[in-house]
Amino acid sequence: MKELLGGKGANLAQMAKLAIPIPPGFTISTEVCTYFYKNNQTYPKGLKERVDKKIEEVEKAKGAKFGDKKNPLLFSVRSGARISMPGMMDTVLNLGLNDEIVENLAQTNPRFAWNAYWRFIFMFADVVMGAEKEELNEVLEGLKKERGLKEDLELSAEDWRETAYRLKAKVKHLVGREIPQDPREQLWQAISAVFKSWQNPRAITYRKLNRIPDDWGTAVNVQSMAFGNLNERSGSGVGFTRNPATGEKKLYGEFLPQAQGEDVVAGIRTPQPIEKLQEMFPECYEQLLDISKKLEDYYRDMQDIEFTIESGKLWMLQTRTGKRTAAAAIKIALDMVKEKLIDRKKAILRIDPYSIEGLFRPSFDPKFKEKALAKGLAASPGAAVGEVIFDPKEAEELVERGHKVILVRTETSPDDIHGMAAAEGILTARGGQTSHAALVARGMGKPCIVGCESMYVDYKNGFFKTGEIEVKKREKISIDGTTGEVFLGELPTIPPAISKELEEILKWADEFKVLKVYANADTPLQAKQARDYGAEGIGLCRTEHMFFDEERIDLFQQMILAKSKKEREEALAKILPLQKGDFLEIFKTMEGLPVIVRLLDPPLHEFLPREEKDIEELAQKIGIAASELKDRVEALKETNPMLGHRGVRLGLTYPEIYQMQAKAIMEATTELGQQGIKVMPEIMIPLVLDKEEFKNIKKAIEGVCAGGEISCKIGTMIELPRGAILADEIAKEAEFFSFGTNDLTQTTLGVSRDDAGRFLPVYLEKKIFEDDPFISLDQKGVGELIKMGCEKGKSIRKDIEIGICGEHGGDPRSIEFCHKINLDYVSCSPFRVPIARLAAAQAALKSVKKY
Ligand code: PEP
Ligand code: MG
Repeated sequence: MKELLGGKGANLAQMAKLAIPIPPGFTISTEVCTYFYKNNQTYPKGLKERVDKKIEEVEKAKGAKFGDKKNPLLFSVRSGARISMPGMMDTVLNLGLNDEIVENLAQTNPRFAWNAYWRFIFMFADVVMGAEKEELNEVLEGLKKERGLKEDLELSAEDWRETAYRLKAKVKHLVGREIPQDPREQLWQAISAVFKSWQNPRAITYRKLNRIPDDWGTAVNVQSMAFGNLNERSGSGVGFTRNPATGEKKLYGEFLPQAQGEDVVAGIRTPQPIEKLQEMFPECYEQLLDISKKLEDYYRDMQDIEFTIESGKLWMLQTRTGKRTAAAAIKIALDMVKEKLIDRKKAILRIDPYSIEGLFRPSFDPKFKEKALAKGLAASPGAAVGEVIFDPKEAEELVERGHKVILVRTETSPDDIHGMAAAEGILTARGGQTSHAALVARGMGKPCIVGCESMYVDYKNGFFKTGEIEVKKREKISIDGTTGEVFLGELPTIPPAISKELEEILKWADEFKVLKVYANADTPLQAKQARDYGAEGIGLCRTEHMFFDEERIDLFQQMILAKSKKEREEALAKILPLQKGDFLEIFKTMEGLPVIVRLLDPPLHEFLPREEKDIEELAQKIGIAASELKDRVEALKETNPMLGHRGVRLGLTYPEIYQMQAKAIMEATTELGQQGIKVMPEIMIPLVLDKEEFKNIKKAIEGVCAGGEISCKIGTMIELPRGAILADEIAKEAEFFSFGTNDLTQTTLGVSRDDAGRFLPVYLEKKIFEDDPFISLDQKGVGELIKMGCEKGKSIRKDIEIGICGEHGGDPRSIEFCHKINLDYVSCSPFRVPIARLAAAQAALKSVKKY
């Protein structure tokens, strides 16, 4: 019932059903939130009465009364959306205290009573009244300084009393109003504040980053308090039923004695590992292990739990599906199949294909790992290098200007989310594995180190210090989120390898997927990587990149600058063996698998120098006057090269180029065939918009081969709207289609793929586009053209092979679309092949059954 009760509310209700001890309470549903926003921030009729009735029920269950002086019931008021948004929305704890009640409560347990009152005033002032946290913090800090105290635990009851009253006065001074004394008034104000927090800037940013719809709304959970700060037989903890960084099957977490839950998450004091509970509260520890198993058996997934021990009794405050690193997600899915908790299909669907991209990030080369500057807790794996920045806003600004930064903080809070999203990695001096920084970084897939205790961060003077070493703002550091080590300077990295666990999951994925996964590879090295990652062929071998090599560019430039066909043919004759050499290598690597080679595509001027100095150098090399060369370069320049003399248009104007390429392909094929190596090349023509273009080219390249026939398929890219519209005609000549969705997006939207960065962010912000159409396929527009192209192509050639080879071929959402419209394959860059295999399997599974 997550949609109605929010994740927290639904899971609390479920825990109650499973007879797991939770503090009694009730949930105000997300429907109320929707009503609240639709009706000018008011509530539906009858809500007040229902809340009153529920309060009565809780009073009965707890044997205490809300607002009572002698035996007061206190509430926590928490947000809880359908999907967890850690720390993004607001919470008020210890609600129901006022001056009179606290005095009474203080008669039996003064230290606790005054501490709780201080907490209530702080949270209420911050969340409900909008006072600045920093200002509120000054009260406690000031008192500690006056009394020479360091830790909160050193404060006496009297100190807390003083702090609470000073804070109360400060709140009045800051916001011009008193904290309401009537508990019911407090409750309703807190409920409204939680509903309103759905629209606070951090929640909005988080939703945007995580693609959570704005209209879902949050529920409000009103629950009786369990006090982790009641006495020395109390405490609070958070944990995971399995290790969220590695996936190891072992209860994992942290515990803070004499504290409320917020203290653990906020990273104010560094907590104890959860194993310590075994000594301190052995019964609770056993019970916790038991509950973990119960929860995993029920939810069939790893859980993230929060609990409180009040006077030796364990209370569960929350359970939810735990966020985890990609590596942990893979291990947990695999283990749970072995434990028979889930089946293979579910295991595949559990792994977010977007997240595994992180596994293909480089790591630091161990050869260069000199002595670490400092060591903290490895909270989110991976290697990150960047300039040290302390201020989240500054981090964001620098990144916008093209810098790479590491956000360094004493601890992070939800307000820092912008800076964290911008940074390469995050380093904090305090906090544990479940601190805000750790949770958010793991969710974002960013390297993160927390609890680096040897570090002292001086925001004011812009440096951090560890041991004797001072690292200033903008200095470069390297952080290893896998080991927790921090290094000075920039360490070299090495490419990643696929883990055994991932390999096993991908093997299962291959059994379920229908789409084939090809790779875009232009060099033997890329082809090898693609094959290692499980590519079933090369869907796009761009030939232009083969000409940029120093020795070849000279010959290629000579060819471009040739004054006659004869001169051009002479230059091409010298290029032919080199090009053939490329194909020999690539074909050999891809033995037994298809390799779709695309003939030359980009405008010729891209191969010529631009700078004066380079023009002069080239002129000298080929023995013509610099001024003449300049004129030639000038003549080849185009106003709109993307819509200019490129693709098949080059082939039509300079057929000898395509002929040379076709010849190189055929000769390489024959040569390898003679060695017994099976080669499956296909020739692909770019930027075709008409059957006649294609026919001309086909004739020209067939002419170069012995017997006038070319022994492989010749097909076309469809990357212009006209090509898609006339796909039936084109299919009469072309033997296969490959949608070049980069150009097709550019030409369908009329948006330059090179310049879109200037205005696209506004389109995304204004929600004109949900995604960047160059990253995730514009299914409504471009997708419609692809569908049309497919249908038209198939109407002429029933078994025509169709795929896509633009960047979208590696994007999971686009892959799902390709599956739905029955394409044969997607082709993507080699390092995204595993992602595509997983996404293709998920698309197939989702289309059969809803999991
Ligand atoms: C395309 O346009 O989608 C494509 C794959 O070709 P290129 O990116 O080389 O233009
Ligand atoms: Mg293209």
